[in-house]
Amino acid sequence: MMVEEVLHRISEQAKRKRMSLPDHKTKIVCTIGPASRSREVLVRMIQAGMDVARLNLSHGSFDEHRETIRNIRAAADDAGLPVTILIDLPGPKIRIGDLAIEPLELHKGEVVTLTTAPAAGDPTRIPVEFEQFPQLVSEGSIIYLSDGFLQLRVNEVAGSDVRATVIVGGPLLSRKGMSIVGGGGVLAVSALTDRDRECIDFGLGEGLDTFSISFIERPEDILRAREHAARSGKTIKVISKIERQEALANIDGILRETDGVMIARGDLGVQIPIEEVPAVQKRIIQKANILGRPVITATQMLMSMTDNIRPTRAEVTDVANAILDGTDAVMLSEETSIGKYPVETVAMMAKIARSTEEKRSSIGPGCNLLGYFRQGKGREKITVNDVVSLNVIEALDALNIRFVLTPTRSGITPRNISRFKPEAWVLAFTRNPSTAKFLAFSYGVRPFLIRSEKEYWHGAILDAIRDWGLIEPGERVVLTEGVSPGREGTDSLIILTVD
Ligand code: PGA
Ligand code: MN
Repeated sequence: MMVEEVLHRISEQAKRKRMSLPDHKTKIVCTIGPASRSREVLVRMIQAGMDVARLNLSHGSFDEHRETIRNIRAAADDAGLPVTILIDLPGPKIRIGDLAIEPLELHKGEVVTLTTAPAAGDPTRIPVEFEQFPQLVSEGSIIYLSDGFLQLRVNEVAGSDVRATVIVGGPLLSRKGMSIVGGGGVLAVSALTDRDRECIDFGLGEGLDTFSISFIERPEDILRAREHAARSGKTIKVISKIERQEALANIDGILRETDGVMIARGDLGVQIPIEEVPAVQKRIIQKANILGRPVITATQMLMSMTDNIRPTRAEVTDVANAILDGTDAVMLSEETSIGKYPVETVAMMAKIARSTEEKRSSIGPGCNLLGYFRQGKGREKITVNDVVSLNVIEALDALNIRFVLTPTRSGITPRNISRFKPEAWVLAFTRNPSTAKFLAFSYGVRPFLIRSEKEYWHGAILDAIRDWGLIEPGERVVLTEGVSPGREGTDSLIILTVD
């Protein structure tokens, strides 16, 4: 069930049952598609560890997505666990249209025609859903399809037809994305398209407020999305998908403006030299951690599980490395949307996460955020908030404390603690449903929505966690304070012994 629907008064919930937390803290984002949109499969995915369900609006109709949203909510209800829904906006990506025969096998050396003219029913012509496409390419341009798995070289452009030779062949599916390298065409479209605005309206209409924006270029793209939502009086949470060179050039500004960030390695690996992806991943994770923005590492994490029940060693190591880099969340795409083993893939993610997290402290400091804040640049720019979160980490460590309780309005306090990837769980209590839902992206944070009118509810929180059986009598916990009106973040911490 959705966070806000589950968590009535915490005392009511406490009476209902004992509470347990997952055996891992890394959050798991799953793309939902034909393989996973049924209520039955969704329940099992949630039980296996799915925290966020991503709807990729590049595929499917609003009616289909509406039904999927209904199924996700029903499944969360069945499982009795919170799930956050993320609407992924298509952005200005050029895509091929629907193919008459699917998959269409492209063979090396063969010449194919891509066309913006209607191509329905002709299996030799590949429809392209972007009118200016022929102007964007010229002889010699390289066209990458399907995240670069397939490559074509353009021979000639004739009106709405583009003829190209297959350099790297393979199976092509409908609606796959396309990247063009060379050819002089400049894609003069903003990252937020009219279609994206329609998709925002659709999401808002469904009661959702978390959106990922594809092909972000600059912070203004985020502002445009916020302004659009504001027209209907709504505030939204934005996750910026970093998948273009321009976004890397503007990364600091984007991170300041955005609520969260996704390292969209699929398109990124075509837009920049693929060998630069690992370093970019590490750098973005560190920057996002410093600012306390949740970061998702995405694409091909367990790709081979789309068809196989076991992942490759390299994939398992990739997931583990992203966690050690300091990612908050890991994402599954085809694996869960069209794969054969959506549930098993989520379970595998959870297993890798648990094992890696257990060893984090003995393996090394990863991006060494503590070091950053204790010396040099981090020290110079340090804020009161940073100091408090460092003190929380120090207390957790020194006293072997398992839980931090953070009453929060905006989510900043739990995120600032979560960024250090502590071994303790961060239990975040908020009266703001949007804050509760967005905390689903943050490592080791379990959000609770409180429907209390009282300004001060620390007593109720302590009662609840005691009744849930999470904390042993005599155990110490850290409680953060500072939800004073008009102030964001935390300015004090208390160490309490639960009686
Ligand atoms: P996509 O984004 O799946 O929407 O393309 C992720 C990526 O590009 O990696
Ligand atoms: Mn992408």
